[in-house]
Amino acid sequence: PDILSLSPYVPGKPIEELQREFGLERVIKLASNENPLGPSPKALAVLNEGMATLHRYPDGGAFRLRQALADRWKVTPDQVILGNGSDELLGLLARTFLSPGDEAVMADHTFVIYKMEVVAAHGKAVTVPLVQWRHDVAAMAEAMTPRTKLLFLCNPNNPTGTMVSREEVARLLSQVPEHVVVVFDEAYFEYVRSADFPDSMTYVRQGRNAIVLRTFSKIYGLAGLRIGYGITTPEITNLLNRVRPPFNANSLAQLGALAALGDDEHVATSRAVNESGMDQLKSGLAALGCMPVPSEANFLYFDAGCDGRRIFEALLRQGVIVRHIEGRMVRVTVGQAEENQIFLTALARVLKTG
Ligand code: PMP
Repeated sequence: PDILSLSPYVPGKPIEELQREFGLERVIKLASNENPLGPSPKALAVLNEGMATLHRYPDGGAFRLRQALADRWKVTPDQVILGNGSDELLGLLARTFLSPGDEAVMADHTFVIYKMEVVAAHGKAVTVPLVQWRHDVAAMAEAMTPRTKLLFLCNPNNPTGTMVSREEVARLLSQVPEHVVVVFDEAYFEYVRSADFPDSMTYVRQGRNAIVLRTFSKIYGLAGLRIGYGITTPEITNLLNRVRPPFNANSLAQLGALAALGDDEHVATSRAVNESGMDQLKSGLAALGCMPVPSEANFLYFDAGCDGRRIFEALLRQGVIVRHIEGRMVRVTVGQAEENQIFLTALARVLKTG
């Protein structure tokens, strides 16, 4: 019954398929918060090296990558765990910490995978509505019960782009029982501009039951390789490693991630392109009467002013893929300047023709 209560994730059609179906020359994808500049060139350069040893299993301990991440975040390698995307780590957390009927507290709306993994692990997803598109940390603290085992904080939040501040996190953590594992999902961390963003790694270094999840899918441009990581206490990695499939981080992903981690230039360029694209989209959307929610990530959440599904479908027919979230709300990923302009022009046309 728990599995039947879930709906399968609906994948979008391949771009070539859409081109054929709608007779389009070009399709622009602004739907999955990917890096519009592509992969880190340093990552691409090393992938060939890995081809020659594809007959071997990957390093199940990801020795070099874990060491590099430990150095980067000033922790020890036994505090680092890798996943087949951070998605997989969310599943490992649910399977490790939830017994049937245990509860996990999360916002609504937030990243859809939390609920899916919690319910698939026979746990109960306790959802706390956002207030003005932001996490309601006071209500989240109140939602704790003796059965609460996990707390998900998506920061910045997908799909809204909003942030939980340093002060809000400190207040929330002072109210959350010590045994609850706090999951800081920071997939968009590298895009954040606010000085009030919390330093979640500090809680881990202090030995708090917390895990910080980051990914190579966003700013590093490696979504297709599937690799993400968690930084947590040695006790928590020890538990998660009992559940983790030994070869979950494939050898190309390990190589590519290691190279991408050292590619500060690609990260800096990607941040700069995101910042100017964000400004372009914000003013363009505001001019169309679609006020976007202030975002710290690489996407914007906006009110289309009418049925968002209809807007999504009309944009698709014009060759622009965005994401309909619910009701009038639509999410668009920041692209390169030309892509953003094509999106804004298409949206203006769609809104005008009704
Ligand atoms: N967390 C959040 C908030 C996300 O938006 C995403 C990607 N959509 C992920 C985690 C998963 O990323 P990946 O599995 O590609 O590392």
